[in-house]
Amino acid sequence: MPELPDLLYIQKYLHKNIVGRTVLDVQVKQPIVLRVSMESSFESAIRGKAFQRCELNGPFIRFELSDTLDLILNLMLAGKLQHQHPGEKPEGYLCFSLLLDDRTKLNLCDEQKMAKAYLTRSGEYGGIPKYLQQGIPLLDPACTFDVFQSLGAKHSRKQVRVFINDHTVLSSIGNAYADEILFDAGIHPKTFVYKLNADELRRLYDSIAAVMKWGIEKVEAAAQPIHVKVRDHMKVRNRKGEPCPRCGTTIRREGVRGFDVFFCPTCQPASRKTFIDWNKVN
Ligand SMILES: [Zn+2]
Repeated sequence: MPELPDLLYIQKYLHKNIVGRTVLDVQVKQPIVLRVSMESSFESAIRGKAFQRCELNGPFIRFELSDTLDLILNLMLAGKLQHQHPGEKPEGYLCFSLLLDDRTKLNLCDEQKMAKAYLTRSGEYGGIPKYLQQGIPLLDPACTFDVFQSLGAKHSRKQVRVFINDHTVLSSIGNAYADEILFDAGIHPKTFVYKLNADELRRLYDSIAAVMKWGIEKVEAAAQPIHVKVRDHMKVRNRKGEPCPRCGTTIRREGVRGFDVFFCPTCQPASRKTFIDWNKVN
């Protein structure tokens, strides 16, 4: 799933290369990804329209195709947005393709066919699951420590990994950066929010901003095409069995609410009694 650093990079690219372009033709291969909340078909509604704006809302990419028409994408777990140039092939499983007036194509590819493309009238977002339920935008000045603290108090019975990963609270942190944030803050993923002391809560808040800034810089520096997920810089995510870059302890993987989480048991010690001593598990 593309996360905030990926999405900001994608948005910047789209703003530079797609906004201003007109859609000459539409090819739909997998109608299962389409959600059209109007009379006309996806193809006929989009054909001839120009991309006017591109904005983000949590995991959603919202394009304005006219003053009254929006195309909103949620790439979900495996969806990719590709800007295909003449001579290139679609990246993976093509769901739909928009031919633009510079002869390039904007493709949505997703082998899992879980990505969604919503075509809707501007402002009518009630039918888009989770679109209006996004929490406070992470990088917004309104996301102060006081606000974060009160959110923590409201969700104090949650495990910290679940809390920071909840898009209706903070918009938004995905699995990869959630692991990196907790590693940076030195907090065990299963710690309950109410168990965090004032210092730890402050550290968590600071790590969210610092890790996101670091991620944005790394994705920017990698300068990959927008369909490539840049994850080489991850310190613990998907690094089970590798040495922790800080202390050398072997990185562990564990399930939290059905999701894989990665952490260093030395840098992120459990603050409560658990049934497993992670330092003794191989
Ligand atoms: Zn460590």
